[in-house]
Amino acid sequence: MPGSKIRPSKFSAAKKKVSRKQRAAVSNQKHLKKGIACSKDSKAPPQSLLLANFKQDWTFADVATWSDLKAKTLLRETGCLPSPREQLTCWQCGDTLVPASSSSRSSSTDALDTLQCPQCRTASRHPLKLCNAKHAYTVFWTSMNRGFSPQYKLFVRTAFLFGIKVPLDSMLHCVGDSENPVGRDLLRKWIDFCKFALAFCEIEDQQKILFKQEIVEMDGSKTLIHKGTSKTTWLKRNPRFPQKSRSFLKKPAAKTQTVSTKRGTGKKAVHHGRMLFVKGRFSKQCVALPIRPAATRHGAPSPPESNQVVKKALRRHVEADSCIGASDSGQALKHGFKRAGIPAAHARHHLDEMTPLVSIPKWKLSDKQRKTLKDAAKSSRGGKKAALEMKTVFQIVGGDNATECEVNRTKSQLRRTNALGRGSPANAHVDQLSARRLLRLPGLLNVLNAIGNVRNKVKLALGHEPKDFLVLDKHSSWLFE
Ligand SMILES: [Zn+2]
Repeated sequence: MPGSKIRPSKFSAAKKKVSRKQRAAVSNQKHLKKGIACSKDSKAPPQSLLLANFKQDWTFADVATWSDLKAKTLLRETGCLPSPREQLTCWQCGDTLVPASSSSRSSSTDALDTLQCPQCRTASRHPLKLCNAKHAYTVFWTSMNRGFSPQYKLFVRTAFLFGIKVPLDSMLHCVGDSENPVGRDLLRKWIDFCKFALAFCEIEDQQKILFKQEIVEMDGSKTLIHKGTSKTTWLKRNPRFPQKSRSFLKKPAAKTQTVSTKRGTGKKAVHHGRMLFVKGRFSKQCVALPIRPAATRHGAPSPPESNQVVKKALRRHVEADSCIGASDSGQALKHGFKRAGIPAAHARHHLDEMTPLVSIPKWKLSDKQRKTLKDAAKSSRGGKKAALEMKTVFQIVGGDNATECEVNRTKSQLRRTNALGRGSPANAHVDQLSARRLLRLPGLLNVLNAIGNVRNKVKLALGHEPKDFLVLDKHSSWLFE
């Protein structure tokens, strides 16, 4: 509604001049009269699976009765645990690890389970050793170094509950029993492992998505604002060994985006969990690309998408020659579509214009783009159509309605597991990506398969130490690639 004030005007950006004539011309209803919809009837598979309709081979009551052995078998089948004859390689040089020589073995009980590299040495010139080698690159390894024995059945219970979107505080009452109590810290760690694995697989799956012959929508979002801080650093929480003061170092160059302190309180706020969503209206597929955090003035709206991010997304996921764009009037989005040669239909949100009817002249379209819109203008009897063909133009609904829904879907999943606005900023992206994957692929097996998939990818990778396995602080390059 024009005139409604959600945010005090002192925080908002400089007002764009809106003439009365312009405002009067805005209508969000025109497409309804012409029978055009944002999407057309398609046979695309649904992008989410209702948990109520989802069937698993087991219920939680079954899983709770499993012994450690049965749980271990399942973990081995899904690749979360290695097969008995698996050979590991050194993460520094790539050589196959050999059993530790008797002289260098420690006297502890795990002496037989220690491997060493024939070449590499540690700083103290001892051979590079790997303890508890049978559990290297598994979710149990870090706890075993602290003397715990692996608790397979408890982990499987946790993964089951995580797979059906049970929040952590509820999980605390379900996983442990009177003989095997489970602490909050261990549970949180296991859940973080699961989230990492799902997010990793989600990013991997997204890379294969290429939109062809589509109306492609684009929009950014965020999930978390940290106030009272001026640090945009992320993944640097609670260092175990605090860094020495670096005051003697030269100060880094000022950021290009300086925050003026004239207006408002002068405090900054950092926007975390920013994502760029790209969605195809017909295939219903969606790509969620993580964007690095950014700072603004306290109370100001979210910073816009950057040119670079939009350009990367368009180049990777959109076949420019055959697609039509739709978005809000963000500068980077407009610019990105234009640069890529994609005609786009924008909505102007500052005029409260959400679903405008936009005409795209035919001469602006390439042959493939024209075909895309021709197909969109056809409809089965009584069905929806996404475009209207006229003599010299095509008319479509502009705006970013489908991506806004996608943001909503993601946030409601986070809200469901108590993860919206209260998680660590470092986990903000992983939380979203894993929640999105659970929408499509819920259940125990999907969670375990994801962990198995990550294990397969990293166990032989050079430079990936066993202690880095599924730890975001150590292994985060895949997130912003
Ligand atoms: Zn080595």
